[in-house]
Amino acid sequence: MSVAGEPSFRESVDLMFKRATALMDLSPGLEEKIRVCNSTYTVRFGVRLRGKIETFVGYRSVHSEHMEPVKGGIRYSLGVNQDEVEALAALMTYKCALVETPFGGSKGGLCVDPRQWDEHELEQITRRFAYELIKRDLINPAQNVPAPDMGTGEREMAWIADQYARMNTTDINAKACVTGKPPHAGGIQGRVEATGRGVQFGLREFFRYREDKEAARLTGDLDGKRVIVQGLGNVGYHAAKFLSEEDGVRVIAVIERDGAIIDEKGINIEELRQHMNRTGGLAGYPKGRHVEDGSAVLEMECDILIPAAMEGVINLGNAARIKAPLIIEAANGPVTYGADEILRKKGTLIIPDMYANAGGVTVSYFEWVKNLSHIRFGRMQRRAEEARSRLLVEELEQLSADQGLGWSLNADFKQKFLQGSDELALVRSGLDDTMRTAYQAMREVWHGRTDVHDLRVAAYIVAIDRVAKTYRSKGL
Ligand code: GLU
Repeated sequence: MSVAGEPSFRESVDLMFKRATALMDLSPGLEEKIRVCNSTYTVRFGVRLRGKIETFVGYRSVHSEHMEPVKGGIRYSLGVNQDEVEALAALMTYKCALVETPFGGSKGGLCVDPRQWDEHELEQITRRFAYELIKRDLINPAQNVPAPDMGTGEREMAWIADQYARMNTTDINAKACVTGKPPHAGGIQGRVEATGRGVQFGLREFFRYREDKEAARLTGDLDGKRVIVQGLGNVGYHAAKFLSEEDGVRVIAVIERDGAIIDEKGINIEELRQHMNRTGGLAGYPKGRHVEDGSAVLEMECDILIPAAMEGVINLGNAARIKAPLIIEAANGPVTYGADEILRKKGTLIIPDMYANAGGVTVSYFEWVKNLSHIRFGRMQRRAEEARSRLLVEELEQLSADQGLGWSLNADFKQKFLQGSDELALVRSGLDDTMRTAYQAMREVWHGRTDVHDLRVAAYIVAIDRVAKTYRSKGL
């Protein structure tokens, strides 16, 4: 996707890394150890489809094993290549460190256009790819745990989990070999929406601080802010839906493969997505205005730009014309190294990918823990919560009786209060807490150091520092 004269995605991530390490006190040896990708496995396998053998190329890259298992999605796209999976694996290392999920970084990819094959064919392809990775411990609950990414979802994860279980019949932790599974196959509530939720929680946190908003030339709260979303896939759809339905933002444009829909009055995201599910694109959507050139829409005036599709969409070719004062990177690597420099000079504020889209891996962590504990997530917390609530209610009633106050608790309230939270509520509050804590860590470096001027470098510094600590304590 990158424009001529720009570094590759992998190089771009390395350059951003080096911008941070230049401000850190790491030995050159340790710096290099953290930066490089440990290994990348390439596999070419054949599957008999439609009467002939089709060969597919797949990758699983392990960036850092300072913590195990290593974690990261598997992407299905014709654009997948070694450079891309290595860049994405590196970002996983930093992302996990930033939000303190105890994983190393990994990423996989398969060169395939999922729209070209039907469900049964995709299952054959997925199971064959999984077989190759499982054989080499590149899918394993203790060593390497994939998840969904572009072009994959719950369905593919369920196939992978089943493939692993078939090949490891005595592994009691088999379900934890992959996350993002459907809830009925060992998944967790709220995983599908998690990355979009994380974008929402991240933006809410940003909007809590006057000085941070001022740095982006913004004031007030999220209510009424004009937003442009690029990509209405799983991440863009959920982020746009929650922000518009719950925080009052106005989504004035959505950019997709076949152009863009513009509507200054605000787009109904649910309706537009239904239209896309029915027709496969934006064209023909009865509201707003459809334009064929989506790239020009990226440069339109707005308050917040949310690139939620793929890497390199904001590059040397268009960065100077981007008008949004605030960009939140819902995708991985949507802003190239060169574009990042141009935008910083212009005063554009960027909430970086490793923070902005960390909601997915955060909830993956909850799912992995749930699978390993063999207990419904939140069941113990729920029991404890219920017991505490019961004590409180009893005490309040006793107090009221003792003092002759005549209080009585509303029965409806009492029932709700005694109920405790369900899995989804626990996942959401755990995610919210994670996004707030990680933002604080980034923010402390951003405002606390005179040599740090942007959130990306702050995020890298926090992440690299944590990875370095783990390596040092291992004796490296
Ligand atoms: N593919 C997602 C990401 O880029 C999720 C990874 C995971 O849950 O392991 O962060």
